[in-house]
Amino acid sequence: MSTTTTPTILTIAGSDTYGGAGLQIDLKTIHHLGGYALSATTALTSQNSTGVKDVFSVPSEVVERQLNVLLEDIQVDAVKIGMLANKDIIEVLVKTIDKFQLKNIVLDTVLVSSSGKDLLESNAINMMKEELFPRVDLITPNIPEVHSLLRNTSYTGKKEEVQSTAKQFFDLGVNAVLLKGGHAQKTDSVIDYLIERPDSISTHTTKRVETTHTHGTGCLLSSAIATNLALGHTLEKSVFLSKEFIYNSLYDSSRLNLNYTRENKRRKEPIF
Ligand code: PLP
Repeated sequence: MSTTTTPTILTIAGSDTYGGAGLQIDLKTIHHLGGYALSATTALTSQNSTGVKDVFSVPSEVVERQLNVLLEDIQVDAVKIGMLANKDIIEVLVKTIDKFQLKNIVLDTVLVSSSGKDLLESNAINMMKEELFPRVDLITPNIPEVHSLLRNTSYTGKKEEVQSTAKQFFDLGVNAVLLKGGHAQKTDSVIDYLIERPDSISTHTTKRVETTHTHGTGCLLSSAIATNLALGHTLEKSVFLSKEFIYNSLYDSSRLNLNYTRENKRRKEPIF
């Protein structure tokens, strides 16, 4: 029997009935990588391979209660933040981060599902930027999210645009940003840039995999980074290991027996 403690990762995220994103993929990822997952649920969603159909946010008092009950009892080594739904939940989270001095926080800037449902109310985006950005260790926006979060940007994922884009995030109080390149056009590889204050840049490249198994990629990556931080790796090594994990997962996804639907073409299957 081991006498060392298991690294503990808290995921604060929305539930995905389909199991491929949100809380469910976070729990699977954290466990797979050797951490112990705690969770606080911010929203219940109804979704399947054709997208998110409904979003029911959890009352913020209930989110606060979940967090307090856990954090008064257990030390967490890292935190992954996903879907936050609305301003009231962000407010609770800000209070919680300060009260419990949480560390190793990875914020996946979840705004809209790829099927077009808002996962954060649009009037809450400014609050996320003002209150959460300065309190977390890393944010992980994809290219469409960069456009929603920064007012004036033409960012397309090119290397020469990285420094000035990161500077715009640093001006908002961000400590480190992983600019994910999965949405860049016509590239054979997916290039993510990790930029840490004041100016360290590392480039993380994987071959692009043609697959329909892309549901949950952002959630998996951010919870993997949080888990690797909890295991004691540096931020750069955590991103490196997590990119390797996401790449391997794309080749080894769960294959589900999906019913026939007219929406077949737009279906997304789980990455893991
Ligand atoms: N559902 C939940 C609860 C999520 O947190 C996310 C993304 O973070 C999604 C759905 C989006 O998944 P996709 O864009 O792959 O449909």
